[in-house]
Amino acid sequence: MLWTIDYGPWTFHYFRTMQFDYLIAGQGIAGTMLSHRLLQEGQRVLVIDAYKPNSASRIAAGVINPVSGRRFEMAWMYEQLYPFAKQTYRQLEQLLGVPVFKERDIWMALPSEQLRTAFNNKTTQGLAQQYTHPANAALMEPWLYQPYGAAIVKGATVLLHHLLPAWRHYLAEKQLLRDEQLDLAQLQHTAAGVQYKDVQARAIIFCEGAQIIHNPWFKHIPFLLNKGEVLKVHIPGLHTENILKKSITLVPQEQEVFWAGSTFVWDYVDEAPTTEKRLFLEESLQQLLKVPYTVLEQQAGIRPSGKDRRPIMGLHPQYPALGLFNGLGTKGCSLAPYMAHLLTQHLLQGVPLLPEADIKRYFNR
Ligand SMILES: Cc1cc2nc3c(=O)[nH]c(=O)nc-3n(C[C@H](O)[C@H](O)[C@H](O)COP(=O)(O)OP(=O)(O)OC[C@H]3O[C@@H](n4cnc5c(N)ncnc54)[C@H](O)[C@@H]3O)c2cc1C
Repeated sequence: MLWTIDYGPWTFHYFRTMQFDYLIAGQGIAGTMLSHRLLQEGQRVLVIDAYKPNSASRIAAGVINPVSGRRFEMAWMYEQLYPFAKQTYRQLEQLLGVPVFKERDIWMALPSEQLRTAFNNKTTQGLAQQYTHPANAALMEPWLYQPYGAAIVKGATVLLHHLLPAWRHYLAEKQLLRDEQLDLAQLQHTAAGVQYKDVQARAIIFCEGAQIIHNPWFKHIPFLLNKGEVLKVHIPGLHTENILKKSITLVPQEQEVFWAGSTFVWDYVDEAPTTEKRLFLEESLQQLLKVPYTVLEQQAGIRPSGKDRRPIMGLHPQYPALGLFNGLGTKGCSLAPYMAHLLTQHLLQGVPLLPEADIKRYFNR
């Protein structure tokens, strides 16, 4: 930080180094959860984030769904992840004074006979039973095409459009945020710590989302980024708090406005929305909705996934002042709070990370 002293006719300027425990690069859901957790543990944290309107976290719907995929398997570690996530988001609601978390039913219009059978087989046994129950399909008949019936899954949404700006504001007020692109040329590191411009810290943790592929220290990790596109649609007269799902997912936003998504593309050329995916999303919408709608907006962003679809976190084995928290894939909202907690325990107390999520799995080969 630049300090100024006026001494008689002279003015002196000098830089004073500021000390932090951790620098965090990126304030998506990963950087938000990690900075929150470290602050809760009394650590001094500085978050450096270049605001990106189409970051994965800013365009995600924030859905938390206990059963995933076309096989309706229980999501990985859901029993640990969900209660921890719920508690963390509720704490943030109190701290920030904005709504952050909402439990909701996911109204699943089953798309085919085959998937109805698969759904019934999977959800009438084991853990999934607790999270699913039959739906009275007639309730949504005026609105939705659902010839194979419907079912209800107990889910939730994280209101990322409230959480991310509110956390950013909270950090900024405490002077714990720099709104800038991290300039890697100015980052020096030794085993003892890092220096970035006028700031020193024990380590920097990169929470860069899809931009991690430009980070020279983690280049060899096989990220499998994928692009997702979404629409914002207005559906006159449709008032529901439920998430509506078939091959497309509709998540209520404000009055009669819904987030509608999303697509998955691995070999994309850029981050821009495409006509092809708009048509695809609209086709899926028309297979679900019996009523007219208007498209208000189209957005696209990149999901930061690892090849094995598990988080990637921990300190670089060769450069221990450089760390990573990434690979949240399609499930950032359910994974980030608990994974940030595990990473914090690892950083502060040396508690081993889960082998499936430990960055070391990419260094042992
Ligand atoms: C269309 C779509 C729909 C989705 N829907 C859901 C959903 O319903 N539920 C769910 O759980 N997940 C969903 N996801 C996935 C979820 O968005 C991701 O798992 C999550 O957002 C990843 O968060 P992140 O913090 O790792 O990365 P990001 O959200 O990409 O955040 C990274 C941040 O770091 C900043 N940054 C990067 N590099 C630098 C640097 N060098 N200097 C400064 N700043 C930097 C970026 O500007 C950005 O702000 C969806 C994703 C997409 C694309």
